[in-house]
Formats: sequence, structure tokens, C-alpha cells
Amino acid sequence: MIIAIANQKGGVGKTTTAINLAACLVERRRRVLLVDMDPQANATSGLGITAQPGRSIYAALLGRLSFGECVHPTDYKNFDLVPAELDLAGAEVELLRLPEPFLCLRQALEAFRAHADYHYIFLDCPPSLGTLTMNALCAADQVLIPLQCEYFALEGLSVILRVIEDLRAAAHPSLRLDGIVMTMYSSRTKLAKQVVEEVVRHFPDHVYESLIPRTVRLGEAPSYGKPVIVYDRTGLGAAAYRNLAREFLARHESLHTTLPSPTTPRAEESDPQPEVGELSQAQPAASSSEVPVPTGSSKDGTVATGNSASSTSMDPQSEPS
Ligand code: ATP
Ligand code: MG
Repeated sequence: MIIAIANQKGGVGKTTTAINLAACLVERRRRVLLVDMDPQANATSGLGITAQPGRSIYAALLGRLSFGECVHPTDYKNFDLVPAELDLAGAEVELLRLPEPFLCLRQALEAFRAHADYHYIFLDCPPSLGTLTMNALCAADQVLIPLQCEYFALEGLSVILRVIEDLRAAAHPSLRLDGIVMTMYSSRTKLAKQVVEEVVRHFPDHVYESLIPRTVRLGEAPSYGKPVIVYDRTGLGAAAYRNLAREFLARHESLHTTLPSPTTPRAEESDPQPEVGELSQAQPAASSSEVPVPTGSSKDGTVATGNSASSTSMDPQSEPS
């Protein structure tokens, strides 16, 4: 499944969500590819990767290399990256000279997707609705929208939702909204709570219950080139993204009897806390019970929005495996 992480507004947590949701899914034994569609290349640097010159998404979009030739391994098993380089900025214009400027990524991914065995491919979009984001939306099956808990959140949301609707009507009828992730939540401010309530009221079926808190560690992790579950594995940011990954999997895999890739062996269902594999390399592994478990009223932590009666506990250990 291909998921674009998009919001035309800058600095709302797209890249942070892309890196950390992907890492938490890898921790839960899914194979994940992250594609950096942003000339700022924050997903690339945030994972501590430097693209091999010329082997980046730019080359794949322009058909100079196959998509597979641009895949780089990360420091973590089952977690790969198609990096971006600064030259990607030029692609915004260069792609417009091609006959189908918005379909370049889709076409590049087509052959690759048929034989690649990733459970999830995430596309980290730039902060615009330009050619690169349109390529991501046209290539994606679903869109995940990170939304910062701030006053104008809903206005920005309506813009991207309209674009998705227009695309569905015109060219890509199977494109779906996966969900909305509320980011940089601070329980100290009344405003953040009000914004979440407002978004939930408008989109009760789409808002993820796992709220991502604003934490210093989440902001620091990319400068060390690490996902937060490696940089600060027992902190609130790590717990929040683990919660999001659990909720994401419940949404995506409970409806399907098989995972997107039929060739991929499933994780042992009886293992409630899968081994973290290579993601544990940077620090000694901590037991799951050491992860703080934010509650609905915790001061800085992840809170339930209460829009679904089915899931109120954020306790990793209480989740059915
Ligand atoms: P852009 O639109 O420029 O691509 P973005 O939407 O990808 O930005 P991020 O880069 O993920 O947003 O986040 C913007 C900044 O906020 C970064 O410095 C990031 O480290 C920081 N940040 C993101 N999420 C959090 C959080 N939950 N707590 C603290 N800092 C955060
Ligand atoms: Mg970004």
C-alpha cells in the first residue's frame, strides 16, 4: 500500500510522522520504504542518510534510473529509503515539460511495486500542492494528513481535502483519505484541545486517536539522524508514535485477511511486543513496561480524542496482539 503524507502547510509534522510512523511499523515487523519527495530532503537527513549522487528520487521521476536503483538501505533492517537531493527543486518545473507531468512517480513505481515486497510505501511530500505533491497523490492509494494543533488547522485541511476530491473525480477515483494525525499537541493549552475537538467533530471517522505531543526529543531526533524510538525509546514521543502505528495497523490490517504483499511472511501473532530488530541497535533495549503510558488526561502525553468507543486505552500491553 502506498500512502502519501501530505499537507500543503509547512512545518506541521509531515516528515516527523513519516520517519517515526515508518520506524514504528518496522519495529512491528513490517517492511517499509520511505520516499523523500521534498527538495528540502528532511526525511533523508532525518534518517542520517546521504544520497549516493544521482541515485535519488529525482532520477527516478525523470526516468534516468529505474525506481529500484534509487532505493538505499537505512541503518535499520526492513527500512529502506529513496532519498531526495537538492536538485529535486528543479523537478517541479522539469516535470511540467513531460506529457503527463503528474504521473511520473506512478509510472516509475508501477513496475517496481509489482515485485517489491514492502508492506507500506510512504511518500513524504513537500509543503506545497505543486508538481511533486501531485505526483505523490497520483501514485498513492491513500493520503495521511498531519495537522498541527493550531488555530487555522481546519482552513488548511479543507484545501487539501478539496484537491483529493478533485483528483478522485478527474483522474484517480480510488484515492482515499487514510486519516488525519493531530501533531504538536500540548495539553497545557486550551486551544490545542479545542482544535482537536473541532477536527474530530468535522471528521469523526478519520482522526487518529493517538495525538502526537510536542516534545523536545521529537524535535531533536532528526538532527541525530535517528527515529525517536531509537533516540529516546522510552519517551512520550516514542510512545505516541508507537500508539499511532498500532492504530494504523488496526485500521489497515484488520480489514484484510492478508497483508498487501502476499509473499511476505507475517509476524507471529502471538508475540505481543515483537523484537525491535535493528532499531534497537543504538541503545540497550528496554522492556515494553518501561514505556510511559499516557492517559486521556496526562499532562504532555498522548490522549484519546474519544471519537470511538472501541479504543480508549493507550497502554501498549493492553492492546490485543
Ligand atoms: P515541511 O513542510 O517543511 O516539510 P513538515 O511538515 O515535514 O515540514 P516537520 O519537519 O516534521 O514538518 O516538523 C517541523 C519542525 O518541527 C521540525 O523541526 C521538527 O523536528 C519539529 N517537530 C515536528 N513534530 C514535533 C513534535 N511533535 N514535537 C516537537 N517538535 C516537532
Ligand atoms: Mg517535511
